[in-house]
Amino acid sequence: MKDAVVVGGGIAGLTAAWRLRDLDTILLESEPCVGGRIRSFERDGHWVSVGAHMFPGRGSFLWELLDELRLERARIHGSLLGIAYRRKIVTGGHAETFPFRLPLSPAARISFVRAGLRIRRDAARYTELARRAEGETESDVRRRLLGFLDDRTWAEYVGPVHPQVEAIFRATANRLTAEPDEVAAGCMVALFAHVWSTGGVELGFNLRNGPSSLPSELARRLGEQVVTGAQVVEVAREAGSVRVRYLRRGREEEVSARCAIVATPAPVARRIVLDLPAETAAALDAIVYGPFVVAGILTDATTAWDDVYSVLTVDSSFNMLFNHSDAGGALMVYGGAGRARRLLAMSDDEIASTVTADLHELYPEAHVREVIVQRWENAIPFAAPGRARVQAALERGVDDTVFFAGDYVGEWTHMESAALTAAEAAAAVRARVDAPLAVS
Ligand SMILES: Cc1cc2nc3c(=O)[nH]c(=O)nc-3n(C[C@H](O)[C@H](O)[C@H](O)COP(=O)(O)OP(=O)(O)OC[C@H]3O[C@@H](n4cnc5c(N)ncnc54)[C@H](O)[C@@H]3O)c2cc1C
Repeated sequence: MKDAVVVGGGIAGLTAAWRLRDLDTILLESEPCVGGRIRSFERDGHWVSVGAHMFPGRGSFLWELLDELRLERARIHGSLLGIAYRRKIVTGGHAETFPFRLPLSPAARISFVRAGLRIRRDAARYTELARRAEGETESDVRRRLLGFLDDRTWAEYVGPVHPQVEAIFRATANRLTAEPDEVAAGCMVALFAHVWSTGGVELGFNLRNGPSSLPSELARRLGEQVVTGAQVVEVAREAGSVRVRYLRRGREEEVSARCAIVATPAPVARRIVLDLPAETAAALDAIVYGPFVVAGILTDATTAWDDVYSVLTVDSSFNMLFNHSDAGGALMVYGGAGRARRLLAMSDDEIASTVTADLHELYPEAHVREVIVQRWENAIPFAAPGRARVQAALERGVDDTVFFAGDYVGEWTHMESAALTAAEAAAAVRARVDAPLAVS
């Protein structure tokens, strides 16, 4: 019997397996390669990403992991604070100046300033709540943050605003794969706090060789402890251990272990773990995901966006544009929530021509050479009102035998939360494995 089985080879599963590499463990990943929602390719000397790309800074868990693996970071130089509206691209400067620099009507400017003052105040409150007091655990902070403005949607919180401002907030909510009437107010305030870099750890870094170099390096070092093309169909608890059934190369295989870390998205965890307690099943069911349609775009280099890294695109088919290389060359755009649902109804060619046309509205000089389309039906788990109530059940796992890890277990659903919750699950497994076996 193995010490642990890890299900899922995204950053959560790989982090868990890495932390337990001295034990007898195996990681089972259904896809032919690891990485999950971190996905980038090499093209003509550029990396093109269609998944996660911005890494947190010093003091974060991932910073330490990158150091340990000796992976080279690249600081993001361009502005992270851009908004494009009615063909005008406003970047850099203080967020407070945006209502006056964007082409808004006078009434919209007033509406934007009013809402902005309130968001600013609550983003500062969020930042205060994010500070860990002495003796507190990550889990304590997480639960406090999840409870912040968790009783209402963003639309209810912000109330009626001018339609031009509503369009800006909708594009912002789409970044979380949500619409304003779906996402909890606290989750949106957290996004503003992160973007303004007043809260949490700043997402200010790329990896020199592209985001996928992180999962690839972890898998390389873990060697035979990682098995790809292994789709787990069942995790059954029996007599203080787990039996995991999976399909590989058309055959059914089975492995037993003392514990399992299930590091798949929540709906998969809900489906494959048998006999879940009602509270755990309800907690997994409460996790809401929205879609992204992403396009990785290769262009001929231009200096047009040299000083820009990310732009909120308010009136395009996509709501975000990212510039992944200093001199142009590799861009990424995505549409979330309703925008994604409209794009999902199209063929890849239609998506490519739609986003290219919208890109030309913003940057007429862009010469597009290739568009790589990626559909993420379950892209990001965003917090809907009431999300805080299920946190304890997610963190508890089941019977000290099955533990859950992944971005959805965290408060801020990004790579950092995925890795942190995996490290916590790995610590729980280690405590269990180190404990003497119960003798009946
Ligand atoms: C377009 C996009 C942009 C993003 N940008 C950022 C960003 O800039 N910064 C950031 O921090 N985060 C970003 N994110 C979020 C980030 O990608 C995720 O939070 C993080 O990668 C989640 O990691 P995970 O390991 O929890 O889940 P996943 O990456 O989803 O990993 C789960 C793994 O489980 C596997 N699996 C599923 N079912 C089974 C099964 N039955 N058996 C075996 N294996 C299975 C999957 O194939 C997958 O590999 C972005 C996400 C998207 C989609």
